[in-house]
Amino acid sequence: MNDGRMEKIVSLAKRRGFVYQGSEIYGGLAGTWDYGPLGVELKNNVKQLWWRMFVQDRDDMFGVDAAILMNAEVWKASGHVDGFQDPLVECKKCKRRFRADQVGENCPECSGDFGEVRQFNMMFQTQVGATDGEGTVSYLRPETAGGIFVNFKNVVDSFHPKLPFGVAQIGKAFRNEIAPRDFVFRSREFEQMEVEYFVSEGEWESAFEMWRQNVHAFNEAVGISPGSVHELEVPDGDRAHYSKRTIDFEFDFPFGRKELYGLAYRTDFDLTAHAAASRVDLSYLDDSTSERFVPHVIEPSFGVDRTVLAILSSAYTEDELGGETRTYLKFNKNVAPIKAAVFPLLKNKPELVAKAREVYLALKKLTPQIMWDDNGNIGKRYRRQDEIGTPVCITIDFDTLGENPDLIDTVTLRDRDTGEQERVAIPDLFSRI
Ligand code: ATP
Repeated sequence: MNDGRMEKIVSLAKRRGFVYQGSEIYGGLAGTWDYGPLGVELKNNVKQLWWRMFVQDRDDMFGVDAAILMNAEVWKASGHVDGFQDPLVECKKCKRRFRADQVGENCPECSGDFGEVRQFNMMFQTQVGATDGEGTVSYLRPETAGGIFVNFKNVVDSFHPKLPFGVAQIGKAFRNEIAPRDFVFRSREFEQMEVEYFVSEGEWESAFEMWRQNVHAFNEAVGISPGSVHELEVPDGDRAHYSKRTIDFEFDFPFGRKELYGLAYRTDFDLTAHAAASRVDLSYLDDSTSERFVPHVIEPSFGVDRTVLAILSSAYTEDELGGETRTYLKFNKNVAPIKAAVFPLLKNKPELVAKAREVYLALKKLTPQIMWDDNGNIGKRYRRQDEIGTPVCITIDFDTLGENPDLIDTVTLRDRDTGEQERVAIPDLFSRI
């Protein structure tokens, strides 16, 4: 398993501007990562696709974008203040800290003895306003779900949706992980894409099944290898006490099989708890039966950063092309940060550059994710584009200008995966990208 693949992915991600270490010039800050120019495009593509699939293309879904700072009562009611903790152990000798459930009897660094296990709350606490004191404590949200539950009544009052319906949110979440590790897999600041899908109790199983399939459909849409995703039915004793069914979707990361997403049936636990704590009625009135009840919830929870890592892991390929070894990212078109690169064959021929510029600008109107490259020879440009996963490269040459009259206004289209080249008329490029 440890074939150096992870190191190669991390190094490519840094070299080519996908992901950098957070605060790098100051020596970093553990558990934080900065997305570079290509990483942010990749990540935005993932989020836009998710939003499109699960909000905009459906008529039973509503989006929200709630504040990261919330009233501390939210996290008391949800159980996070009392229960969102991991077991922490400290080595008596080297003072390093570990998650007790992730290490053996002794310190993996110096073999020292551990002290007592104590519970460590993973929420980042902060103060709101200029005064210190109980009333001003707040937390950076540890999950986006809280912002959805507190807006349940707002969405119902504004839109009067019929059950079943869902509310979705994409945004940052923060957890003071004891041991951040494995690149962006476990970080202290990350992004989630979550849905709370509200149902009447009798509908939970069909809704759960629908979301189970949706998770696989999303994986396919972003190009995560289906053979690398495994469902783990979480057994009774391991689930949260209120959850009647949970599936972890695990992915074969280069460092092992680990959770990518979660899908949970949370019963009516959250709305009931928030209604009790806020003293606001969060029940739902079914017009057709005049019945009033608290809806139950199915929660699919997707991590954006783990999605990016699963995509990078699925796409990372080493092969041989034209007798040379190459490294490339076999991104699905939907998520590729650059959809096509446009080259003038030579950069010192103004007529080639002008024509290439024309093609480049026309394609950019179709999608802005088009790159211009006129540096070095064509072979080098192909290499660079392969390494960042650009599906096709387009070269404007003298035939495009009419040197061979039969080929006027055609370009060379080169495919990333096969390296094959074909001659394509400029107007036909639009349907190819
Ligand atoms: P784990 O067991 O790996 O800590 P979890 O079960 O606590 O994860 P959830 O609370 O179910 O995770 O969070 C939902 C999703 O958010 C996860 O499936 C994952 O995609 C993402 N996620 C959770 N914690 C992190 C983290 N520290 N860094 C990056 N993504 C995370």
